[in-house]
Amino acid sequence: MSVAEVEVLIVGGGPVGLFVGCTLAQASVSLAVLEQRQTINTGSRSIGIHPPALRHFARLGLAEELLARGIKVRRGQAFANTKLLGTLDFTALPEPYRYVLTLPQEQTEELLARCLYQLQPEALRLGASVTAIEQDSAGVTAVYQQGGHRQLRGRYLVACDGKRSLVRQQLAISWRGGSYPDTYLMGDVPDDSSLGDDAAIYLCDAGVVESFPLPGGLRRWVVKTEHYLKGATAADLAGLLAARLGIAVASTAAMVSAFGVQRYLAGQFVAGRVILAGDAAHVVSPIGGQGMNLGWLDAAHLAELLPRLLRGEAGVDLATYQQQRQWAARTAIRRAEFNMCLGRRWRYPGLRNAAVRAMLMPSLSGLLARVFTMDKLA
Ligand SMILES: Cc1cc2nc3c(=O)[nH]c(=O)nc-3n(C[C@H](O)[C@H](O)[C@H](O)COP(=O)(O)OP(=O)(O)OC[C@H]3O[C@@H](n4cnc5c(N)ncnc54)[C@H](O)[C@@H]3O)c2cc1C
Repeated sequence: MSVAEVEVLIVGGGPVGLFVGCTLAQASVSLAVLEQRQTINTGSRSIGIHPPALRHFARLGLAEELLARGIKVRRGQAFANTKLLGTLDFTALPEPYRYVLTLPQEQTEELLARCLYQLQPEALRLGASVTAIEQDSAGVTAVYQQGGHRQLRGRYLVACDGKRSLVRQQLAISWRGGSYPDTYLMGDVPDDSSLGDDAAIYLCDAGVVESFPLPGGLRRWVVKTEHYLKGATAADLAGLLAARLGIAVASTAAMVSAFGVQRYLAGQFVAGRVILAGDAAHVVSPIGGQGMNLGWLDAAHLAELLPRLLRGEAGVDLATYQQQRQWAARTAIRRAEFNMCLGRRWRYPGLRNAAVRAMLMPSLSGLLARVFTMDKLA
């Protein structure tokens, strides 16, 4: 029996798989995205979209709609408990994206899915759960369930199937890392603060509180907790914010979720004709909001390399992808660890606060703004 074939098979239609699909479809590569979910919409986990990713969204023609829907965060305020230490200004970043955009992940995914549909209407296959892959010298076959047992073959396969990647496990690629001791509670609640479109970080004696504006009159609060608060409610979040900052937030919320944080890195990003991207290749602590963006930047590299490989251009190989993207992931992991470290309990918080005040001085704050917005990770 002959098996249908595309040039590139993508396993996983999360934010990274959809982005890989859009960028390759724009380069006229024939592809299929196999996604096990029946619908694209998920809860709102990621919210921050950084300037390097916005530049790639612009190439897809999506930046305008993203910007119209999201909130442009041009400034961050840093507090020691509730006392202002200083501000971090993003307006000195290079044009045109002198801000971080916030938009719930489900809206970004919806825009990407629509873009992919317009570029290649048959490409996104929802309800398609991959159960195995087989690789030979000419291509990769994916076996999947979608109302029955099916197969599809690609000359290359990009695994965007998240941190528990079946593809990575099938290839027995090493996966090194672990969990940090840190735990957090986050929630999106009606925004009654006076912060406007600013983000804020409160270095509290009992642990950090972070705060970001969201579209629709909401604000995300992320609170460091002593332990994982399974089943926590909006009232728990409101209680923590009242205790640490003396502020009252609504005890009803659009979303409340407790989470722990991890770091992981795949030993290889490329194995023959299979390429890992996004959380399938690296997991970065979300404190700093860079994991999804890192995956999009992986995708942008593939959009450049894969069409050339498919055309048989000489001198193109995937070793540069592995080298560059592993370096970017290690750097993002270190930056996220630095952010987490600032937010822990300090024996001498005055020392930490003095260091933060110094980093926010005009001579250093430009560098800090670039580090926060994923400079050099593209
Ligand atoms: C609380 C929190 C907040 C965060 N905030 C930010 C932020 O602000 N900015 C940021 O950049 N990052 C953030 N992150 C990280 C971000 O959520 C992830 O890095 C991102 O979702 C990774 O995208 P992905 O497409 O690689 O993987 P996933 O989002 O995990 O998507 C993988 C997809 O593959 C599908 N799949 C899996 N297995 C199969 C299979 N066998 N067959 C078919 N389909 C399959 C899944 O259904 C899923 O749709 C945050 C993370 C957390 C936990």
